Amino acid sequence: MPVLNRIAAFHADMTAWRHDLHANPELGLQEKRTSALVQGLLTEFGVDEVVTGLARTGVVGVIRGRGTSRRAIGLRADMDALPIEEATGLPYASRNPGVMHACGHDGHTAMLLGAARYLAETRNFDGTVYVIFQPAEEGAGGADLMVREGLFTRFPMERVFGLHNWPSVPAGTFTCREGPMMAAVAVIEITVTGKGAHGAHPDHGIDPVVVAAQIVTALQSIVARNLDALDSGVVTIGHIIGGQGFNVIPESVFMKGTARWFKPETGDLLEAGVRRLATGIAASFGAAAEVKFLRIVPATVNDPEATELARRAARAVAGDAHVIPMPAPTMGGEDFAFMLNAKQGNYIWLGAARGPHDPMVHHPAYDFNDEILPVGASYWATLAEQLLARAG
Ligand SMILES: [Zn+2]
Ligand SMILES: [Zn+2]
Repeated sequence: MPVLNRIAAFHADMTAWRHDLHANPELGLQEKRTSALVQGLLTEFGVDEVVTGLARTGVVGVIRGRGTSRRAIGLRADMDALPIEEATGLPYASRNPGVMHACGHDGHTAMLLGAARYLAETRNFDGTVYVIFQPAEEGAGGADLMVREGLFTRFPMERVFGLHNWPSVPAGTFTCREGPMMAAVAVIEITVTGKGAHGAHPDHGIDPVVVAAQIVTALQSIVARNLDALDSGVVTIGHIIGGQGFNVIPESVFMKGTARWFKPETGDLLEAGVRRLATGIAASFGAAAEVKFLRIVPATVNDPEATELARRAARAVAGDAHVIPMPAPTMGGEDFAFMLNAKQGNYIWLGAARGPHDPMVHHPAYDFNDEILPVGASYWATLAEQLLARAG
């Protein structure tokens, strides 16, 4: 895999940082050790400023180039881990029971650290590069918090860029698309309240289990019957809990699930459908349903111009054949969307597949592919040097 020579020389260091982060994973907004490690290394690299405190554990490194340009860009990595029990058996496996770097954010952090070290050492650009280490990508809203706490006002930048490793794309191959790339996400919570009774005497109660079953089935009609067949959306109920005894009709049933979409009006349609069906069906059985539809992440939408700039940098690193189109977006969600909502930019996938059966992100056997560390770091460095090119 072609990479910048100077960055290839950091491969062993980036791997060591990555394994250290992997062995010590921390959940969203609790990345204290990770944040301290990032701050320490950025200081060691001689970046101009290390700013802490955004979104509790977030870190922004400021690297100024040569010359007097006031132009600036942001490069973002995520730092948090997932509540998963690791099953890799690796020597550097998680030392925190029940917590695991199963999405490769350890690798993302190590790649951006490698790029920061290179940029601080070479400064072959004119302007400012902000290296943004974001906490809590996995659902706790770290990107949203950083934006709300002034990321783009305290660090004015033209564009912001994000990168994620992707185990189903060949290692070292980049892919992204302009426009929507990943979906908006909501968490659905439905509590159905009936009336408890003896299991042998359902006539004495209102069975919330039967009501919940009707609701789960009916919710599938929203995408099938209410959504334009050429639009995309998902409604999934992933969790149902209610009752304990085989002969007891419980008082209530709780269900949890997710909805996904791209266009804001589609999100409104899905929400209205979930509310209408859950409350309407419950009422028709004499029960009640309380519905929460919590929108946690907007759609990840790439700016076309920033996307072309990202592709140019990726082609310079990986070659034309290893920058491939992404014909369709995915229904997965990504909280970098909050940054792209506030600032034009691009989010790109860097392939990480070791073979056809490499475990996917969020799997307990997943492990970030260290071979792509210098590729990702070279992409970041090239992007900075191309976008903030020195005159002459
Ligand atoms: Zn993830
Ligand atoms: Zn991730």
